[in-house]
Amino acid sequence: MKHTRLLVALAVLCILLGSAYAVAKLMPAAVDENKCMGCGACVEECPAGAISLNDQGIAVVDKEKCTGCGKCAKSCPVEAISTE
Ligand code: SF4
Ligand code: SF4
Repeated sequence: MKHTRLLVALAVLCILLGSAYAVAKLMPAAVDENKCMGCGACVEECPAGAISLNDQGIAVVDKEKCTGCGKCAKSCPVEAISTE
């Protein structure tokens, strides 16, 4: 019985963590191309390697890799990135 409760608690925890991850994945970073000046600060800051500069020197986000952590947005000097 004790083990059953522990397993149920672990299952609930896994579901909650999975839900939180899914929500984060639904909110990847978005770059305003009209504001981006191509400084590369966001590329350096991204822990997931999810952002890079394209041929025009504009930051682009790989939505599959992006976890929505928001570090790139905080690093951008011209507020060109949002995660909402
Ligand atoms: S939100 Fe986080 S994971 Fe996504 S591009 Fe920005 S720094 Fe990378
Ligand atoms: S930090 Fe901002 S201005 Fe610099 S490359 Fe990234 S989005 Fe563009």
